[in-house]
Amino acid sequence: MKHVIVGNGVAGVTAAQTVVRADPSAEVHIFGAEPYPYYRRPLLWEFIAGQIEQEALYFRPPDWYAERGIQLHLGARVVGLDAVDHHLALADGSHATYDRLLLATGGHPFIPPCEGTDKEGVFTLRTLDDALAIKAYARRASTSTAAVIGGGLLGLETARALHSAGLEVTVVEFFPYLLPRQLDVEGAEVLQSLLEAQGLQVVTGATTVAILGSARADCIRLQDGRIIDGELVLFSTGMRSEVTLAQEAGLAVNRGVFVDAQLRTRQADGQPVEDVFAVGDAAEFEGRVYGIIPPAIEQARVAAANMVTPGSAAYSGTMPATTLKVAGAELTSLGESVVEGDEYTHVRHLDLEAGQYRKVVLRDGRIMGAILLNDPTRARPITQLIEREVDVSAYAEQLLEDDFDLKSLLRET
Ligand SMILES: Cc1cc2nc3c(=O)[nH]c(=O)nc-3n(C[C@H](O)[C@H](O)[C@H](O)COP(=O)(O)OP(=O)(O)OC[C@H]3O[C@@H](n4cnc5c(N)ncnc54)[C@H](O)[C@@H]3O)c2cc1C
Repeated sequence: MKHVIVGNGVAGVTAAQTVVRADPSAEVHIFGAEPYPYYRRPLLWEFIAGQIEQEALYFRPPDWYAERGIQLHLGARVVGLDAVDHHLALADGSHATYDRLLLATGGHPFIPPCEGTDKEGVFTLRTLDDALAIKAYARRASTSTAAVIGGGLLGLETARALHSAGLEVTVVEFFPYLLPRQLDVEGAEVLQSLLEAQGLQVVTGATTVAILGSARADCIRLQDGRIIDGELVLFSTGMRSEVTLAQEAGLAVNRGVFVDAQLRTRQADGQPVEDVFAVGDAAEFEGRVYGIIPPAIEQARVAAANMVTPGSAAYSGTMPATTLKVAGAELTSLGESVVEGDEYTHVRHLDLEAGQYRKVVLRDGRIMGAILLNDPTRARPITQLIEREVDVSAYAEQLLEDDFDLKSLLRET
């Protein structure tokens, strides 16, 4: 059986590994557009900050693929898919066939409409090549300030990396507060003061309308007319799934490539395509493109199991859980942490002096989500309480007190 995987990111590599484990006789090929073996995107920040060398980005030794019988084709962009004839066309004019195909093509950065984004010094960060270019530009003697547009997880981490690389950095966030997808107003205020204490500037509730400068970026202009220094401008304003191959092959695509619980793609008429699967940032499952690593790994394992033995595994979604370390703060966001509505109760605990903030969101006595700023010990028990749907209503008021033992609630179940 010949398995072909398009994409050499975490999803593609995990799937390849799962296939060869399940069927050591399988022929497995990975086609990756980038020229590098698999590397860890979260380490790109440390690389930009100058804390690690390029070699440290690679997760596996160079012969890892060959030792497992996985045939890796680097710098090999797939440009055409014929899902009827099981045929792939590559950018270099060559062709490949498959019995089972996995689309693990990831995503690319999205830049909102803004004047001057074509100037030198304007970047996005997704790939190692992006990181190399950013790093080189940040090192130029003429670059001393950076504007990071987007105060989400990626934006804040990139801002911190640029700050560590020696630049004066301002983060510009469109929403009225930072990390709008993970934090509420109270938590964001604590985080912002921690970031400012570390030397980052933060501007919220601001829309960037133009990058100013002649050929090179010099500063940015906000909608309200304010000017922010930025010889290096970094857009961190979201990701879009890489769906071109699937779309051109006539597969059903919305924000991502539609997949069912077996991670099979489907035709425009809704019929599953039995031998073409999609996972990771490229895939949309039940209306959701996760855009983070844990679901990509989970999906890759399920898809690979089904590629080897059709119908053998099912995916039912992943609880979004993010832990971010920024400017010495550790932030964990679990499940439905920023929902509003009468059916939800929010229990909060704030300790400004300790830079700590905790919140759980309850519905019908069950914890639906949580935010933990600088409080890593509670993440595990709360995750388990969410997963086991434990009724905590009798303790709602005490849940987040310093001396309350969350684990005791787990023992009761
Ligand atoms: C800087 C950074 C830091 C991050 N940190 C975190 C973190 O701390 N925690 C977390 O959970 N998530 C993090 N993420 C998000 C995470 O990296 C993604 O969710 C994850 O990489 C998705 O994996 P994937 O395999 O689906 O896609 P990708 O990692 O994007 O891999 C897809 C690969 O497919 C290749 N490809 C695309 N089209 C083709 C084609 N036509 N032919 C051949 N190859 C193709 C691409 O070149 C790419 O190498 C971070 C992202 C970035 C950019």
